[in-house]
Amino acid sequence: MAAAAETRMLFRNIDEPRLASIRTYKRLGGYRAVQKAFKEMAPEQVLKELDDSGLRGRGGAGFSMGKKASFLPRGDMDKYLCCNADESEPGAFKDRELMQKNPHQLIEGIIIAARAAGANRCFIFIRGEYDLQGDILDKAVEEAYDAGLLGSDVLGSGEQVELVVHRGAGAYICGEETALLDSLEGKRGNPRLKPPFPAVQGLYGGPTLINNVETLSNVPHIISSGAEWFKSFGTEESPGTKVVSVSGDVRRPGNYEVELGIQTRKLINGLAGGTVGRRKVKCFFPGGSSSPVLTGEEGLDLPYSFEAMAEAGSMLGSGSIIVCDERTSIVQLALRTARFYHHESCGKCTPCREGTNWTVKMLERMVRGEATPIDLDTVASVQTNIIGHCLCVLGDSMAAPVGSMVEKFRPEFEQALERGVPSLNDRGGAGRGAQRKGREAREEAGHLSMAGGR
Ligand code: SF4
Repeated sequence: MAAAAETRMLFRNIDEPRLASIRTYKRLGGYRAVQKAFKEMAPEQVLKELDDSGLRGRGGAGFSMGKKASFLPRGDMDKYLCCNADESEPGAFKDRELMQKNPHQLIEGIIIAARAAGANRCFIFIRGEYDLQGDILDKAVEEAYDAGLLGSDVLGSGEQVELVVHRGAGAYICGEETALLDSLEGKRGNPRLKPPFPAVQGLYGGPTLINNVETLSNVPHIISSGAEWFKSFGTEESPGTKVVSVSGDVRRPGNYEVELGIQTRKLINGLAGGTVGRRKVKCFFPGGSSSPVLTGEEGLDLPYSFEAMAEAGSMLGSGSIIVCDERTSIVQLALRTARFYHHESCGKCTPCREGTNWTVKMLERMVRGEATPIDLDTVASVQTNIIGHCLCVLGDSMAAPVGSMVEKFRPEFEQALERGVPSLNDRGGAGRGAQRKGREAREEAGHLSMAGGR
């Protein structure tokens, strides 16, 4: 297979020492886009450029960033911009690297997006576990204030843009945009009923734009080089590049920036080195643990884009691929997935609160070999009844992947009814030659040593 290559836009200078300092960032051309946005462009032009670029949200939903910004009402009032840095989806770790190594790219994106949306008060809501990244951002924000890029008179324009880094307390649900707003206001992070949508009534009741870290990190590049240049990358419906977190049973887990539309096989077998021991890809989650799984046969030859993943019955989501090789027990995988969402459910609505609980209990009976055929049918129907019936997407985030596993690997679940399934996989299984075991152990060791990313 031809070697796959990364296409670096957000990661262009990622390995540059001291990139996190404003001096290095500026030396490499940083903060020129913000100068252009404030000195050469009206807010409407900035907004139009973002809209024309077709940039889609990189946090999960894939909604047009420019359209979302245009929903905020015009006029003289306090408006807010919240950067969603609560990266908690199992399999996703790309925002962490973007914030840790290039915090000023994100801050520049926030300042420009604030100008486009007319927002004057901005927040970065970062998950509590990202302590190091929070400290790095604090320092970078301080540098940006000292340089006159933030504050009551940005670059002498008379415009005000304030930015605060706010640490969450570590709940997955706070990545849901309205729960994030409640948490930011000091309440328990519970999703709100929509409408009203945050663009109309968000933080402290004011119009609010909420965008993910990677989405905002794209903004300086679009303003510097233009919408047409940006659209020369990727596909018509999915322009630009994507930083993809690849993990699971691969030899080189890590973050890879690629053009959207790259063949998925090139990502998994090329950049991430393929599976340990060259085993068959049994299935993979294309967009984090909340996306329906695709089998290797279904998904490896597809373009990695929003539209291709949706057509295949899954989603690109946060752009986080988790690979499961042929040793994986799908029943155990379903249980592990369900347990996570059950634990993280806020309990506000019944289908999610009860449905995640029932699913875990029935799957636990299956792995113990104590379930009946009725349990299997009930697991399938519970997933169907959760989807589309919850207050926020967390319920669907369990039901969609678990439902896809039951649908695509039903014989494995039927086998479990009789015999149970002791563990997630059979990595130390009997009957393997000692030589093969030794080689795989070395590969596993290499795999683990690289798991920390760049
Ligand atoms: Fe809470 Fe789950 Fe309902 Fe979302 S779907 S509001 S997490 S109970």
